[in-house]
Amino acid sequence: MSLERIYEIKKQWIPVYALLLAVALVVTIYLILVYMYTQNEDFLMYTMLSLLFSLYMGFNLVKLIRIKVPKYSYVKVLKCSQCDHTITVPMKKSDYLFKEEGTCPKCGSKMYIIALYKEEVRRS
Ligand SMILES: [Zn+2]
Repeated sequence: MSLERIYEIKKQWIPVYALLLAVALVVTIYLILVYMYTQNEDFLMYTMLSLLFSLYMGFNLVKLIRIKVPKYSYVKVLKCSQCDHTITVPMKKSDYLFKEEGTCPKCGSKMYIIALYKEEVRRS
């Protein structure tokens, strides 16, 4: 599995963590209110546990949001058989190595694919 795919899956968990965090916060507030009314020390402990859970969920949520998913584009390098002129263009589906493609813009000779690779797309 590729790294981008893992990041995408992780990103899908954001709503789950957000929901759990919201629930944990509501429970925490509820427990604080119950404690204030009953003055029962037990609820204070539950409040602390609930608060810790909220913090943990919040921490996970922030961590997930901060993940940046890298985007890649596939490119091919075309090289002229005569003058060694090279150009880099986006890759197409049926491309393969050493495939003959187009003519050289400098000398008009045949061009071949000499490299196929993916590069990271930089977003500004
Ligand atoms: Zn050429």
